[in-house]
Amino acid sequence: MIDARKFFIGGKWVDPINGTDRHVIDSATEDPIATISLGGSADADAAVAAAKSAFPSWSVSTREERLGLLEEILAIYRRRRSELADAVTNEMGAPTDLSNGLHTALGEIHIEAFIEVLKNFDFGHALRPDRRRDHILYEPIGVCALITPWNWPLNQMLLKVLPAMATGCTSVLKPSEEAPLSALIIAEIFDEAGVPAGVFNLVNGDGAGVGNCLTAHPDVDLVSFTGSTRAGVAITKNAADTVKRVSLELGGKGANIIFADAVENAVKAGARRCFNNSGQTCIAPTRMLVERSRYDQAVKEATEVAESLSVDLPQKSGAHIGPVVNASQFDRIQNYIDIGIQEGANLTAGGPGRPDGHNRGYFVKPTVFADCTTDMTIVKEEIFGPVLTMMPFDTEEDAIAFANDTPFGLANYIQTSDGVRANRVARALRSGMVEINNEVRAPGSPFGGYKQSGNGREGGTWGFEEFLEVKSVTGWF
Ligand code: NAD
Repeated sequence: MIDARKFFIGGKWVDPINGTDRHVIDSATEDPIATISLGGSADADAAVAAAKSAFPSWSVSTREERLGLLEEILAIYRRRRSELADAVTNEMGAPTDLSNGLHTALGEIHIEAFIEVLKNFDFGHALRPDRRRDHILYEPIGVCALITPWNWPLNQMLLKVLPAMATGCTSVLKPSEEAPLSALIIAEIFDEAGVPAGVFNLVNGDGAGVGNCLTAHPDVDLVSFTGSTRAGVAITKNAADTVKRVSLELGGKGANIIFADAVENAVKAGARRCFNNSGQTCIAPTRMLVERSRYDQAVKEATEVAESLSVDLPQKSGAHIGPVVNASQFDRIQNYIDIGIQEGANLTAGGPGRPDGHNRGYFVKPTVFADCTTDMTIVKEEIFGPVLTMMPFDTEEDAIAFANDTPFGLANYIQTSDGVRANRVARALRSGMVEINNEVRAPGSPFGGYKQSGNGREGGTWGFEEFLEVKSVTGWF
């Protein structure tokens, strides 16, 4: 069993002051694999105090100093990438090919992309050629509380800790208590790279403990949160008394609109993408909308994908999917599958219970529900498991209306070989991201949602702006 009870505060690995022990569970075996400490208010206070005392000098560090540090972090990250992949597999059950692939690749891509942003970012300029005595300055906002979930742990924490550091902010990271192991390696990487004491701090804890303390703390200037809409609302209320800036990246219920002229394999690719990471992806295309003339064929293809996808141990190499993260997610997904059946959706693949060959572990069958309607619970709510819902549409207007008929607005998808239509539909969709024909977003493009999917944007220059105040100085000499 790994003892992972230390916190990283003020440049040192320290023992918790008032923490309580908690086990990290292997989601394939249900056995404990590590012990962490859930910190208390004294631990959160100590981390905020360290970040506060580091801020005056770090906020005036030079661009070159910060660039040098990010480049050093990149080199160490590359060297330790396979250790990070193992930690992700252990903490949240991603199969090893996926954690050695996309999970850790995304982290590397983010470090590279933020280096490019930092090289070119404009931290100050004259307002206009005729107003050269008016200067606009972009300054670090201060101490930042960074709170992340477990489903793409490296991706989510690096989208926060890197721009915080690169803009001259100091931070306290509270990773998910479900998946705290990769964050410990990130802290070691920052330490080895020479990040000055207090610029980055790490405290483990849960939402009710450290999460609550950080988001209400008078010395925290910004909360950057990724997680459920439920927690995002609670955090916003908690931060209101001290008027913090709160940046939210929340849940999603992505629609995948497949027109009859869609490029080959659009249905199969869409189904695979829905099941990837065992469906635990906020931008997963979970609602497949198919033009009626191709609908029956699409149901057949999606069903084949679900039935041919194996569900297996995370430590095994291959393209299978692993377990979901924990018992409560497993129960939640099973409950949604039961509700789908009760509400009359047509179950064509998967269904309740564990897949054959697994009598323990949080393994869920890749599941397809066809002939869904917009009033069904499984179409309206985020399931966060390998469950695809399908429904037919007759016109482009209907498809847009179905796609937008949700409180979420994170990512939507369009499959068609008609470029004019693709662009028209992309503009009509109420979401922060739209992908056409499975094109992959460029590194450094903005990531975030409309409506109840959040109010922030991560990545690229947008990711920097989240951490900056804007100052207008008039009378410049
Ligand atoms: P969660 O909201 O339960 O927890 C996320 C983090 O918030 C954890 O670190 C948790 O300890 C903390 N937390 C929970 N309640 C809190 C509170 N009241 N105050 C302070 N901190 C609190 O989410 P989860 O189950 O870890 O992750 C799954 C959710 O995250 C899904 O809804 C998913 O869509 C969403 N998500 C969104 C994005 C995005 O970028 N939009 C990315 C990934 C995941």
